[in-house]
Amino acid sequence: MALIVQKYGGTSVGSVERIKSVAERVVRTVKDGNKVVVVVSAMSGETDKLITLANQLSAHPGEREMDMLLSSGERVTSALTAMAVEALGTKAISFTGRQAGIITDTVHTKARIERINGDRISKALEEDYVVVIAGFQGVTEGSTDVTTLGRGGSDLSAVAIAAAVKADLCEIYTDVDGVYTTDPNIVPEARKLEKISYEEMLELASLGAKVLQTRSVEFAMKYNVPVVVRSSFNNNPGTLVVEEDKGMENVVVSGIAYDKNQAKVTVVDVPDKPGIAAKLFNAIASANIIIDMIVQNISSDGKFADISFTVPKTDAKRAVEVAGAIGKEMGAKRVDLREDISKVSVVGVGMRTHSGVAAKMFQQMADHNINIFMISTSEIKVSCIIDLKFTELAVRVLHETFDLAV
Ligand code: ADP
Ligand code: ASP
Ligand code: MG
Repeated sequence: MALIVQKYGGTSVGSVERIKSVAERVVRTVKDGNKVVVVVSAMSGETDKLITLANQLSAHPGEREMDMLLSSGERVTSALTAMAVEALGTKAISFTGRQAGIITDTVHTKARIERINGDRISKALEEDYVVVIAGFQGVTEGSTDVTTLGRGGSDLSAVAIAAAVKADLCEIYTDVDGVYTTDPNIVPEARKLEKISYEEMLELASLGAKVLQTRSVEFAMKYNVPVVVRSSFNNNPGTLVVEEDKGMENVVVSGIAYDKNQAKVTVVDVPDKPGIAAKLFNAIASANIIIDMIVQNISSDGKFADISFTVPKTDAKRAVEVAGAIGKEMGAKRVDLREDISKVSVVGVGMRTHSGVAAKMFQQMADHNINIFMISTSEIKVSCIIDLKFTELAVRVLHETFDLAV
């Protein structure tokens, strides 16, 4: 007998029919002799719908209230899924994040899980219930306030619960049957990977491959949770996310990722002196905004600096406000915002031992007349910020260049 956590994403619970089909899979897994914890997302589109409602009422809705609002989507699907399982004659009980014992910090809309008190889950499992947990949410210490875990956060709920209850496997059910060499919805020739290392998956996720949420991969890697990505629409085997093995370094590039949720902020003509970067980025960090790339250019006379950085589009306005205030203090000329950009990245653990990947990538961009605005590299990835309208072209070209197709 195994203990399995199954997470179902928005499309997988997007309608009554889909929920019935999820319930059938859950019951099948129970009948095969396993204990099952189910984690569900809200119905697809529901979280966006709720955000739109909030924005119609307020330009800056309070984050505590946003969490109250957004956590409702998962509450609906957890109860419906438990009912669907019960209707098939198998005992099921739904829990909110609070009832499941998921304790987070107090950073509303992107809270981090601090610990999970899994007693109630374990007790229900012992009593032969299928436990259905609302993903994407937790509660602050002392059960004071509801929090949410950031977009795509149900993946994190599932992995964290799998670690807490010491599950044998965490299955992530979605609308594609695994992790591909790139988004199969953009490049139909993309190839499904049989397995991928935590490290590569972490890069792909953080570079925009939303098939797994970044923090869920971080968590899986830290606690060694075996994860498999599968489709809830068929019985195909899926992709295993595992520790790196020897053969993996032979593959130089294993995937291409893109991220359209990027914006570039530039603080123009800051009088250049020690401490300007520290001041600017301390202020940005205090606003809980995560920065990705940073580029600083000094004018030829050495008197002024332009500092550009990228942030998630959702934080762009806030970043401009913060940078504007600090820029003014530092005597900067102005702050520019550019939102029609994207980030395209090539990823592979083999880059550690093979050279020339960056050069090949830049050459392809040049051959297709795609201008590169910013570049960043790590041991296992190269990323370029480019014009948003060239995203798909760049992804397709790179996928072909690095020979990733079927
Ligand atoms: P869910 O709602 O189930 O959490 P998501 O929409 O968050 O599903 O993630 C699944 C989507 O991730 C796929 O439909 C696909 O478009 C996208 N995706 C991006 N990159 C990849 C990749 N390398 N492999 C598979 N899917 C990818
Ligand atoms: N419903 C949330 C979102 O859309 C969480 C999730 O689906 O994982 O971001
Ligand atoms: Mg998702």
